[in-house]
Amino acid sequence: MSPTLNADLHCHSTVSDGTLTPEALAERAKANGVELWALTDHDEIGGQQRAAAAAQAIGLQYLTGVEISVTFIHQTVHIVGLGFDPENQALKDGLLQTRDGRGQRAMEMSESLAKVGIKGAYEGALKYAGNKALISRTHFARFMVETGVCRETNEVFRKYLTEGKPGYVEHRWASLKNAVTWIRDAGGVAVIAHPARYKFSANEEFALFSEFKAHGGQGVEVVTGSHTPAEYLSYADTAREFGLAASRGSDFHSPDESHTELGTLPPLPGQLTPVWELVADRIRHSSASPVAGAATGR
Ligand code: AMP
Ligand code: MN
Ligand code: MN
Ligand code: MN
Repeated sequence: MSPTLNADLHCHSTVSDGTLTPEALAERAKANGVELWALTDHDEIGGQQRAAAAAQAIGLQYLTGVEISVTFIHQTVHIVGLGFDPENQALKDGLLQTRDGRGQRAMEMSESLAKVGIKGAYEGALKYAGNKALISRTHFARFMVETGVCRETNEVFRKYLTEGKPGYVEHRWASLKNAVTWIRDAGGVAVIAHPARYKFSANEEFALFSEFKAHGGQGVEVVTGSHTPAEYLSYADTAREFGLAASRGSDFHSPDESHTELGTLPPLPGQLTPVWELVADRIRHSSASPVAGAATGR
């Protein structure tokens, strides 16, 4: 499979904190020239069947996807899973467990915001959650833009929803080991999402990559909507250094909020193994483009 394939292996639908349905995302990806797509909702694979069916109907190759929230050295790290079996019971149970604390956390966020004069945030945020079990900070941000607290969601995060700010509530997510193991045991490949976004020291980042590898992790996002062009190059080096395959994904959430459109990022830098090579036999082809050659293609 070509390293320059227009693969977009990271985005969100109404099943988590995106504003478009899986079907609308499939259409948008296709219209933007995406050749291989994965929907990666947070801690949730309830949209996988819809995404795969929509992709198949329009001749778009599809990989199953998810983005799992993990706590590592007191920070939240996101691990993307690609090409797993969505019927795997241990994966489904693990995701259910990971989602479990979101309701309680949201109520605590709301109480904390009430103390600085922002009332009714829980109910307000819940209105924006297409999937009530997946209430996220993004839904709070949308509510606070709607009610005029801030002008845009970025500003809400900066002033209220990040560490040290009045609406932030510390939360314990899955362990790195569990997330990687769930994905691997379901036949998928685990990928460290947007590594430049974390605020780790060099030693902590080294620990993240080393432990991730030791648990069976195989990929890292190099070209993502969260990285600058300089970061594409520095994480291309990291991928080579740790012997990890490279992934590419916009992290698209919404036409109104996302600065990176589906399928519009530059290709992966050279001399990297694209992550889609590791899961080539897991790609779901439409009836118009049969599987022939996928398992052997490089
Ligand atoms: P949660 O899983 O509830 O903690 O929410 C995390 C989500 O919030 C991320 O996946 C992003 O979609 C969104 N997010 C995090 N930081 C920011 C930011 N600075 N600006 C806008 N959205 C953000
Ligand atoms: Mn998100
Ligand atoms: Mn993420
Ligand atoms: Mn994401």
